[in-house]
Order: sequence, then structure tokens, then C-alpha cells
Amino acid sequence: MAEVERERMEYDVVIVGAGPAGLAASIRLKQLAAAAGSEIGVCVIEKGSEVGAHILSGAVFEPRALNELIPDWKERGAPLNTPAIDDRFLLLTERRSYRLPTPPQMHNHGNYIISLGNLCRWLATQAEELGVEIYPGFAAAEVLYDDDGRVCGVATGDMGIGKDGQPTASYTPGVELRGRETLFAEGARGSLTKMLVERFHLRDGCDPQTYAIGLKELWEIDPAKHRPGLVVHTVGWPLDNRTYGGSFLYHLEGGQVSVGFVIGLDYENPYLSPFEEFQRFKTHPAIRGFFEGGRRIAYGARALNEGGFQSIPRLDFPGGALTGCAAGFVNVPKIKGSHTAMKSGMVAAEAVFARLGGDERASVRAALERSWVWDELYRVRNIRPSFRMGMWAGLAYSALDTYLFRGKAPWTLHNHADYDRLARADAVPPIAYPRPDGKISFDRLSSVFISNTNHEEGQPAHLKLRDPEKAISINYRLYDSPEQRYCPAGVYEIVDDGPGGGPGNGTSGSKRLQINAQNCVHCKTCDIKDPEQNIDWVVPEGGGGPNYPNM
Ligand SMILES: Cc1cc2nc3c(=O)[nH]c(=O)nc-3n(C[C@H](O)[C@H](O)[C@H](O)COP(=O)(O)OP(=O)(O)OC[C@H]3O[C@@H](n4cnc5c(N)ncnc54)[C@H](O)[C@@H]3O)c2cc1C
Ligand code: SF4
Repeated sequence: MAEVERERMEYDVVIVGAGPAGLAASIRLKQLAAAAGSEIGVCVIEKGSEVGAHILSGAVFEPRALNELIPDWKERGAPLNTPAIDDRFLLLTERRSYRLPTPPQMHNHGNYIISLGNLCRWLATQAEELGVEIYPGFAAAEVLYDDDGRVCGVATGDMGIGKDGQPTASYTPGVELRGRETLFAEGARGSLTKMLVERFHLRDGCDPQTYAIGLKELWEIDPAKHRPGLVVHTVGWPLDNRTYGGSFLYHLEGGQVSVGFVIGLDYENPYLSPFEEFQRFKTHPAIRGFFEGGRRIAYGARALNEGGFQSIPRLDFPGGALTGCAAGFVNVPKIKGSHTAMKSGMVAAEAVFARLGGDERASVRAALERSWVWDELYRVRNIRPSFRMGMWAGLAYSALDTYLFRGKAPWTLHNHADYDRLARADAVPPIAYPRPDGKISFDRLSSVFISNTNHEEGQPAHLKLRDPEKAISINYRLYDSPEQRYCPAGVYEIVDDGPGGGPGNGTSGSKRLQINAQNCVHCKTCDIKDPEQNIDWVVPEGGGGPNYPNM
């Protein structure tokens, strides 16, 4: 293909991702420039068709960072309308539920039940009022480097490329967004972040990042059962003692309930299906009543970080920095990362602003270490890793760590990468899941339908196998293709083109992996969990993916 000149736009700071981290950073930069009486050009690009379209969170929101960023958020109409007023923490067995004391980190007094997507939409209007340029529908596909190897911006992907990789009649080249500094705020497992981590060795000296998959539905429930401000978390059934996870159920405004299930991606059984576990959870006798007579209105899934303090990478590299969940600041015992993402965006903005002003030594990492994010994550650093010993031991250790050591135990437990935790298919029992009833529990395809996912047809698949052979020779033969089950959107399917063998018997006959990329909800789980790290999630054409309403 002949070299095509790309349009070029110049800014002081380019920000990739309009989530809480990227938007908070953009607002802070404009505030700092205004306070200094200077001008700063800031742009934010977002792969979703609009700001919020790819945002999926619980969400109980702790307003600490927002109070610092926009103290008069209430007067400005921020969508924080439902104070959390009642916390319940339940242990489920197959038929019973037991109320446990709510762990201190899960007390939500002073917090709000919100739609994070709507908060981002509101933050975007605040940013635009300050002069930030926001471009939704543009996916950053490539990091740009100058002759010295310094990051100098990003390029959006070309549009109108056919499945064969060749330009079609609708071909439009990508745009270069050049920045003196570039902040990567792509959220958990960002695709460009992954490249930067490798290129600049940002993870040298820290633990691997670890993740969970979170699945969520939004329901309109019977008004008689709706309790605005009620926050319910569960542990236990349907997961076994060795699998980390649990549910959330938040009653928000407008008669809606946000219900979700989170499972640590260090799970071992390749037959486990996070989607089916979620569906099964809703049928528990203590839970299903909430949904009877209600209507499911939205579905989606997204990975979240769980590595915490000991997995924080170096954040700075020449020409930019990582911020928010791209680096990983979720406080796992709190199940919250939006407030830390915002604060990390704010401190990144402060450091980058100082660099632009000539202070070359200003460091995002050092600024973060001085912030409350550092202290908050340090105190809870041992809780998530302790659950490797199983749920009961983890709960017991967490109580000890919280009440006795108060987060200051003289040791730090370490994290292990998620992808190498899977057991071989022939070493574990398959899991039989009940059929969905279509009222409380559903199948995957009808679920993806209400995520409003759409990708321009005809483009190359944005899920790349480094070695296509391994899909069958390793994944299928050894693990019975776990991607068929962990993908929450049914993207991966083993299809049989004729008579063939089965998993574990060394023959795969005419089996092949079919990738239904158009269904992908951009959760990034395959990029994380593939046992051979053989799957690379890259951005599809901008605007593709889910179109979440108020998730
Ligand atoms: C199921 C679930 C429940 C959660 N519950 C809570 C909760 O109750 N409370 C809480 O505080 N936190 C919760 N979290 C965590 C919280 O959602 C995250 O910590 C937070 O969203 C991180 O913000 P971020 O800005 O770093 O990333 P994100 O919110 O992921 O935003 C990143 C943005 O960047 C865009 N993007 C990514 N790559 C590119 C690219 N290459 N080009 C252009 N755009 C790109 C994405 O589309 C997205 O809009 C939950 C998370 C999940 C998954
Ligand atoms: S293909 Fe990968 S990123 Fe897309 S929905 Fe499935 S697991 Fe998530």
C-alpha cells in the first residue's frame, strides 16, 4: 500500500481514553493553566462512539477525588443522586444466605450509587467548558515516537481497511495527534499501554498485574421491591472455595438495580464460565426475588485490575505517563477504582504540567507516591493475595490484617500472573450449568444483543492470534478452549468442519477456532487469560464496540 500522508494535529497534552482518569487529568491541566495565567492545548480521544459508551462499572462512587477536582459538583449538576444508605454483606450457600458483619472497607456511608458512564458524560461537559477538545469515535491504534525514541503522540487507526488488510473504497487514513506529553488512560489492560510497558520495561521490579472479569446487568425492578441506596455484596455460592469472586447489587435511581458478578482471573478450572456463574447467582433463593417481575435492560462486561500496591508499575516514560486503571489503582477490598483513577489522573496532570513548564525532573510516579492513593493501596495490599489460600482462609486473614495489623503487617504478599493458573482440562471436572429460564437467567447471545455492540463489517478481526496453530494444538487439546467460556460475548467458538477428535486425546481432527469479532464488548479478558498469551486485543475501527447506556 502506498504511503499516505496522515493529517496531523498538535497539542501540549494528548490523552488516550475518556474514562474517569483521562477526563480528570484533562480538567486538572486546564485548571492549572488557568491558575498560572497560561494557555494549554489538551485533547482526549475515546474509542467509544460517545463518551461513556464503553464505560462499565458497579458503581458505588467515593467522591473524594471529585471533591478535590470540582468542589461545587453538586451545584454544577453532577449525576450523584443516590446516597448509599444501607450496606449488607451476605455469605451464600446453595440454598441459604447468612448476613456477615460488613468489613470496614465496604462501609459506604458518604458514597453514592451512580452510573459511571453518566458521570463520565458529565465530566466531559465540564472538560469541554474549560476548552478541552474531546474526540469520541477515535481509537488510538499506534504510539508515535520521535527520532530519539521519545513518545510524541498517537495515531488513530485507518478506516476502511478490508478483511484482507487492503484499503477499500471507503479508506480514510488515520490522524496523528501529536503531543509534547501523552497520557495513557485506557483503563484495565490498555492495548497501547501493553506495548509501552514492554518497550520501556515499566513492570521491571514490581509484581505482575492481576485482574478479574466483571459482568453486569441493569434491571428495572418492581417498584415495591426497590430500595434506593441499598448496597448488597455476596461471597460464596455459586463459586467454590478456591475461586475468588462475588456479586454486587446496587439500588440506584429511577427504579433501577445494577447487578453484577466479579471473578478473579486466577481461577483454575478451564470449564468455568464467568457468564454462567453470574446467571446462576441470580437464581439463588435470597436473590431471585429482587428480579421477579422486573425487566433486564442492559448487559456488559469489563476486566478490572486486582494487583493493587505491589503491582503498580513505573508510570513515567520519555514523553508521557500511564494513569488510572491502565496502570492499576483499584482498591480491591473496597471494590472501587474510580476515585483512585481520578486522583491518579489529577496528579499525573500536575506532574506533566510541571514538566511542560521546564521541570524535567517532575515525575508522575513520585507525585502519586505523595498522594493519598499510595497510602490507601498500601494498607490493603495483602488482602487480595491472601485469598489464594481459599475463601475461608482469605476472609480470616483479611480480618486479622485489617483489625490487628491495621494494614501495617511487616510483610507483603505477592501476586502471580493470571494466565498460568489454569489446570489441564483432563485434571478437573467439567461444570454443568443449568439452562437459562429467559426470565431471571439468560443466554449469552441475547445478552450481547442488549449491549448494543456493533463493529463496522468487513474490517480485519481486532483479536489477533500470535500463532494461529496454538488455538487447537494447545488451547483446544490441553484446556478444551477456555476462551469459549470465559469470553462474555461468545466471540470464540470451536467449530467442526468434519469428523474429528476431542480434547485430551491428542487429535483435533477438523476442529478450528472461529472468532466472531463483531460481538466483542472490549472487556479484554482474552488478552489477559489466554494460557499462552497468544491473543492480542487491538483496537477495531473507532466507534466500534458496545454502546452502553448508563453502565
Ligand atoms: C464490574 C465492575 C464493577 C466496578 N465497580 C466499581 C465501583 O463500584 N466503584 C468504583 O469506584 N470502581 C468500580 N470499578 C472500577 C472502576 O470502574 C475503574 O477503576 C475505573 O473505571 C477506571 O477508570 P479509568 O479511567 O482508568 O479507565 P476506564 O473507566 O476503563 O476508561 C478508559 C476509557 O479509555 C477508552 N480507551 C481505551 N483504550 C483506548 C484507545 N486505544 N483509544 C481510545 N480510547 C481508548 C475506553 O473506551 C474507556 O472509555 C468496577 C469495575 C468493574 C469492571
Ligand atoms: S473477545 Fe476478548 S475482549 Fe472481546 S468480549 Fe471476548 S473476551 Fe472480551
